[in-house]
Amino acid sequence: MMYLLCFVLLLIGAAPIAARPTGSSYLSGTGRFWHITDLHLDPTYHLAPDPTKVCFSSKGVPAPHAGMFGDFLCDSPYRLIQSAFAHMAPLTQPEDFIIWTGDSPPHVPPDELTTDMVIQVISNMTQTIRQYFPNMTVYPALGNHDYWPQDQMPTSTNAIYKAAAQLWKLWLEPDALLTLSQGGFYSQRVKPGLRVISLNTILYYGPDKVTCNMTDPAGQYEWLEKTLEKAAQSQEKVYIIAHVPVGYLPFVRNTTAIRRSHNERLVAICRKYSHVIAGHFYGHTHRDSIMVLLDQQGKPVNSLFVSPAVTPIKHVLEPYSNNPALRMYLYNAEDYTLQVKFDRLVYQLNQCRHLLFLQSCWLLMRFGVEDASYADAVARKVEERLPMKNNVKAMDRNVHIWQLVQDNMLFFFCVEKYKE
Ligand SMILES: [Zn+2]
Ligand SMILES: [Zn+2]
Repeated sequence: MMYLLCFVLLLIGAAPIAARPTGSSYLSGTGRFWHITDLHLDPTYHLAPDPTKVCFSSKGVPAPHAGMFGDFLCDSPYRLIQSAFAHMAPLTQPEDFIIWTGDSPPHVPPDELTTDMVIQVISNMTQTIRQYFPNMTVYPALGNHDYWPQDQMPTSTNAIYKAAAQLWKLWLEPDALLTLSQGGFYSQRVKPGLRVISLNTILYYGPDKVTCNMTDPAGQYEWLEKTLEKAAQSQEKVYIIAHVPVGYLPFVRNTTAIRRSHNERLVAICRKYSHVIAGHFYGHTHRDSIMVLLDQQGKPVNSLFVSPAVTPIKHVLEPYSNNPALRMYLYNAEDYTLQVKFDRLVYQLNQCRHLLFLQSCWLLMRFGVEDASYADAVARKVEERLPMKNNVKAMDRNVHIWQLVQDNMLFFFCVEKYKE
């Protein structure tokens, strides 16, 4: 009930705000898009005198440093999410687009949510994005929290896939809405020569009991191969987007994010079509990380970007803090390859120290552009750094994925987070 009340209040309180594209220039021949993920709205967040009552998502753990824009032990207050979008809007131009890789509801025990509540949160986030970016196409993917009970995504149509298809029809075409409502995945052409494939990787996620013995849940692998084959024949490039990433988790050694057998099959398809795939974009881990897909000869063939979350939440025992973050990517408008130059990446972490969620303060962390192949550049960087930095791990060379952990590589905005 408390959630229902909060949702209603949030929707009433959110005034329409027009996107304000500005003349902020970037290189000609270069396109841009935003990646937002893991918003994890906690509508119960409020500055309570009792620190154990600030948010349901802290599960009774005191949040004594809570500020208007959040706390590290809580999911996102609505105000934090608004602040993120308010920062993005003036930096956005009409030809940009947004990818949104899921997980809107908060981390609370299953009995505090219902299917209707999950749909309401997804609906609230959809409307909020729409208010800030009224003319922008958004390509969403479903996360493991975008279902009730969480993680248990089915292989056929259900209330949540149908609701997502209904909510996102402003952005997606009928063909995409059809597969979305049936299996939670879709494909859509972004512009001539570029296609987004949004996968439902929750179907391959270990905790999903519904699909654990299935070789091809919802027929998604077969559909993916066909879609990639068609894209290849049409000379399209593809961005793969999904919530749970292929490859390894950044915080434990030798553990894939999805089931190992499903991971192997997905890796095999991605390798086979790596000449078609121009980039992979994932969320879920809440860690700013990047992976490189290698072919069977060990040559880097694709870059896999895992974006950090908007929610700051972490477990009370976790040593890392989670900067709420957004990413913007630049791509070559000719061939849709991504462009980053490591030499010019710059940290700007000085202005907002000590604010600790008392003000919204989004900063550009790093910046740079070049025309080189991104995967090659990342692989070189990984090799250069391997002997020196213990936060860079070459994880399980057998399946040919390397991972760079806790190392921000891209355009990256944040609310300052440091407790010192
Ligand atoms: Zn998440
Ligand atoms: Zn997740």
